[in-house]
Parts: sequence; C-alpha cells; structure tokens
Amino acid sequence: MEPRLPTKVVFNLLRIPPDGELELAGELSGDVLDLARDPVARADGPVSYALSAQFADQSLLVRGSASAPVRLLCGRCARFFSTTVRIPAFLRAYPRQAGAESLDVTEDLREDLLCELPAYPLCKSDCKGLCARCGKDLNDGPCACPPPPADDAWTALDGLVLPDRPPNPGADP
Ligand SMILES: [Zn+2]
Ligand SMILES: [Zn+2]
Repeated sequence: MEPRLPTKVVFNLLRIPPDGELELAGELSGDVLDLARDPVARADGPVSYALSAQFADQSLLVRGSASAPVRLLCGRCARFFSTTVRIPAFLRAYPRQAGAESLDVTEDLREDLLCELPAYPLCKSDCKGLCARCGKDLNDGPCACPPPPADDAWTALDGLVLPDRPPNPGADP
C-alpha cells in the first residue's frame, strides 16, 4: 500500500519561528494505522493531516486535524464498508526539551485516529443484519425462514384452553 508515502510526521523544531507557527501538512501511508492484523478494520488509503506547532512557555503545542479512509466490518451484516475516521481537533502539548531538534507526532496521531474508530461499526444505522437461522443478509430482502420461535410460542399460548381444575394425576379416563 502506497509504498512511496512517508510513514512519519516529524516537526523540525529549528524551523519553528519564536513568535509564530510552523505548519506541516501532507499524507502518510495508511500502514501507520497498523491495522494489518486487525480482523474488523483495515486502512483504505493515505492518512491526511494538517498540523501546526508553536512554542508556548515551556511546552511545544501541536494542533490540527487528520483523517484516514478505512474499511470496517459491519457488526450486523458482517460486510466490510468504507468510511473515514477524523480527528477534527488534534491537540498535544509536549515538554520543551533543551537541544531537541525534532519531534515525531506520528504515534499520537495514530492513537487519536484509532480512538475514533467506532466500537460497534454499522454499515448504515438501519442495517437489517443477518437472519439468525439461515444467515441471509436481510438487507438484500427477506429470507424464506418461518417467523422466529418466540412468535410461535406466543401463538401457541393464545390457543391454549386452561382447565377449570388442575388435572388429577392417576385419574386418566
Ligand atoms: Zn451492515
Ligand atoms: Zn432466514
């Protein structure tokens, strides 16, 4: 996947103006999300970011936004669907270290992007899911299965005629 894209976001601290910001924007390989072994989420293209860094007292503030296209497994129909995870407001304060010339924020970007992955992904909010009996994807239309067993049980109870007295054991006609 995008072998030529960079895999790190690194600020050159020597280029940050004393009273201003250093902006850094671009794309990272989707591999930075490290989802290769994840069974329910896959990177689906480059991660885009637009960040800026500035000194504030004894710290270095980095803020901005990032987004990444991903494919997620729907929790109901078990199909992969495409979506985009976004960090609308990335913000981190790093301690200002004497002599440091660069700052790698890749790991923090990754962490925030992964936090934005939904815990229970749905391909659409009204996904009908799979039939519990035959496994058919009900988004494609109804299956031929009879109504669920719970319905059958209630129907049977409706037709049940209760005796006036409990039956007398051992007095069968
Ligand atoms: Zn679904
Ligand atoms: Zn079915």
